[in-house]
Amino acid sequence: MLVYQSAVTLDEGRIDRALHSMCKYYAGEVCNDVVRKCLQVFGGYGYCKDYPIERIYRDAKITEIFDGTAEIHKVIISKEMGVR
Ligand SMILES: Cc1cc2nc3c(=O)[nH]c(=O)nc-3n(C[C@H](O)[C@H](O)[C@H](O)COP(=O)(O)OP(=O)(O)OC[C@H]3O[C@@H](n4cnc5c(N)ncnc54)[C@H](O)[C@@H]3O)c2cc1C
Repeated sequence: MLVYQSAVTLDEGRIDRALHSMCKYYAGEVCNDVVRKCLQVFGGYGYCKDYPIERIYRDAKITEIFDGTAEIHKVIISKEMGVR
């Protein structure tokens, strides 16, 4: 819902810094949680390059780094909420 709400806001030409940062931060968290659990299902094979889940696991991590790291989005959210 955060992703859709963020996209709709941008489509309407509005910028909501807190909303977009919450979207980027939370989507990255969920992505990594889901992929980590998927890899676990594969057991040791999930760790090997023989299966695509190994690459997906590494690729998921970047969502918490590029386009603003998770920590920086938390800083933005805090500032937008008036928290010092
Ligand atoms: C595959 C890939 C593609 C990329 N594509 C692009 C692109 O297309 N365009 C572009 O402009 N950049 C791109 N980048 C760069 C990316 O945006 C940066 O890697 C990202 O902004 C983090 O900066 P940094 O690597 O210098 O880490 P740093 O800024 O050195 O951060 C290191 C760690 O310290 C934490 N940290 C830093 N400052 C604070 C703070 N004030 N409070 C709390 N924690 C803090 C960070 O969260 C991080 O965990 C890409 C990077 C990668 C790996």
